[in-house]
Amino acid sequence: MILLPIDLAFIAAEAINRADDYDAFRYFVELDERTDAELDALVEKIAAPIIAAIDCKQCANCCRSLDVYLTESDAERLAAGSFIPLERLLNDTVDRDRADENGEWGVFRHKPCQFLKGKLCSVYEHRPESCRMYPVFTPDFRWTIEEILGGVGLCPIIYHTIEQLQQELGW
Ligand code: SF4
Ligand code: SF4
Repeated sequence: MILLPIDLAFIAAEAINRADDYDAFRYFVELDERTDAELDALVEKIAAPIIAAIDCKQCANCCRSLDVYLTESDAERLAAGSFIPLERLLNDTVDRDRADENGEWGVFRHKPCQFLKGKLCSVYEHRPESCRMYPVFTPDFRWTIEEILGGVGLCPIIYHTIEQLQQELGW
């Protein structure tokens, strides 16, 4: 397996320089004639080898840059697995009020994530579901593309997947 290079400065600049291009591409995708299921299948087919070819342990940009939302069961699992008393975890690391404003149960207080050590997750086996799932392309790629494109400048997996999708759709 040949790993794809991770150049965070390059993709951050691309997201700024090509903002209009990505915006127009969003409308192009929304008007594409494929069904939602066909488009989702195409995106998954493109994304799978890219996910395999990018070493997240050399990146960790999402852990540094994004709000990490978690559920009550995420917090319980994390506390139990990392031997942190649940009350202390909630007091020290989880902001319930800020999460509530966004209709979520909890969000980590700190950015970068307090569990990031270097470029590695120190609670990997017990990390929240949202960490396990990122980046999410499907279902409903067509109707979530605006949010996905918001990550094009920070996540190499998203950047390369959108690049290849643009080529595949003849953009
Ligand atoms: S819990 Fe781990 S995977 Fe999730 S944001 Fe923090 S360091 Fe990253
Ligand atoms: S999911 Fe994206 S931003 Fe997060 S570590 Fe992997 S390549 Fe980097």
